[in-house]
Amino acid sequence: MHWIDCHNHLQEASLGAAPPLLAAMAGAGVLRAVVNATCEAEWAAVAALAAAYPQTLVPAFGIHPWHAHEAGAQWQRRLRWLLEKLPQAGVGECGLDRWVAVPAVAAQVPVLVAQLRIARELQRTVTIHCVRAWGRLLETVAAEAPLPPFVLHSYSGSLEMARRLLPLGAYFSFSGRGLQPRQAAVLEVFRQLPRARILLETDAPEMLPPPPYLTHPLPGQRNHPANLPAIGGGLARALGMSAEALAELTTSNARACFGW
Ligand SMILES: [Zn+2]
Repeated sequence: MHWIDCHNHLQEASLGAAPPLLAAMAGAGVLRAVVNATCEAEWAAVAALAAAYPQTLVPAFGIHPWHAHEAGAQWQRRLRWLLEKLPQAGVGECGLDRWVAVPAVAAQVPVLVAQLRIARELQRTVTIHCVRAWGRLLETVAAEAPLPPFVLHSYSGSLEMARRLLPLGAYFSFSGRGLQPRQAAVLEVFRQLPRARILLETDAPEMLPPPPYLTHPLPGQRNHPANLPAIGGGLARALGMSAEALAELTTSNARACFGW
């Protein structure tokens, strides 16, 4: 069985060195992963990881809404340069987040819009983070349409919001957080989504799944990217599918979404 981790942060120092992580992923059948940078300071590390493991790791470069106020004066030029140099790279992680007070959503919007425009210009898949800002996100994405395919990572929005985002090109990525007992609503939304738009991710080292899905425990409540097949098994059960069928479905969806 083959799995694809559509969103993680392997560059995070808290995950430790790359070789044992990659070996565990290969052992678990995780054949490919999209590694997302969250700020300019991480771009070089993500590019280096992808260069070291070109068969497995696909880089994505972006500015996360939490870091929107820290972007340097030349960030758009630097981002375009990196994307042009690395034709397989995506844009992200970018988005909107009302859970943080600083920067305010009003300051996050122009940074997101700039990233959507660069992605559209260079035709790169975009990975979007959204927390408590769904109306504003829909408005922003709709205003920039038509866009290349985009991933709503660790999707936690409503079914109604998903139905509005679908025709704009959205894919919905499921993380282990959706297996927490208090997140039953997330699983219910995924049951109703078109199967062709479902992706899987770990968001490692974040979004630790509950204990039954921790096949690869790490110290300090860190999520290991090789937990992905167990997370996929949990989603498969909720959807009434076999793990094999879900692995096949989400692998083929990831290929379509990222253009592999
Ligand atoms: Zn993330």
